[in-house]
Amino acid sequence: MEKISWNGTILSIQPRTNVWRYRIDNRTHSHTGYNLFLDGIANGEAKQFAVAISEKQQQTLGFRIGDEASGTGWTKKYPQWEYADYYRAGALKRVKPNYTLADESKMPPWTDGPPDMATYEWRGCRVLSKACWKGKCFKCKWATMANVTIEYDWGVKQKWRFESFCYGPKSCKFYKRGAEPMVPYKNCGSNPDCHGGFDDIFTENRDWDD
Ligand code: SF4
Repeated sequence: MEKISWNGTILSIQPRTNVWRYRIDNRTHSHTGYNLFLDGIANGEAKQFAVAISEKQQQTLGFRIGDEASGTGWTKKYPQWEYADYYRAGALKRVKPNYTLADESKMPPWTDGPPDMATYEWRGCRVLSKACWKGKCFKCKWATMANVTIEYDWGVKQKWRFESFCYGPKSCKFYKRGAEPMVPYKNCGSNPDCHGGFDDIFTENRDWDD
């Protein structure tokens, strides 16, 4: 692990979500802050990258899409598990706020400031196709690329991967579920999560347009 400096323009702000999967029985989501997706310079290299920040850091600085920001971060300790390129962000600055950003919250993708973690937890999420996440949904505050841990052999072996989800309105015209996520378990093949039923369970607090 190495401490680096970065600066750039914010392209997207999404919740940083961890998911734990166990066969068809369990899909648990926890929310640990946000991922800032930036176009800029990190560790002296011009590129697009993601920095994990805490909920408190976002609440203090109020980052918005289009802001120019800078800070430090650490390279990943667990690259197979952590989607963001840098985490443990520090010395955060909102160098040049994007005052021109209009409230675009009436149409998808929703690009106004993201809500707190409690709101994401209450809303719950549905599986979102990776093509949507990379495309029309990338700027949306309701999109996430989650760090997923699969309990592959209980207490003995885990597997890791990244999966995209949507916390937004079920009626969103951009939404596509994509391929069914299959969950493997040792000597048992792979099965869909709750045969597709987890999305309904997790979003049952909300109506079609919420
Ligand atoms: S499908 Fe979900 S993530 Fe994509 S724009 Fe709509 S609400 Fe946002």
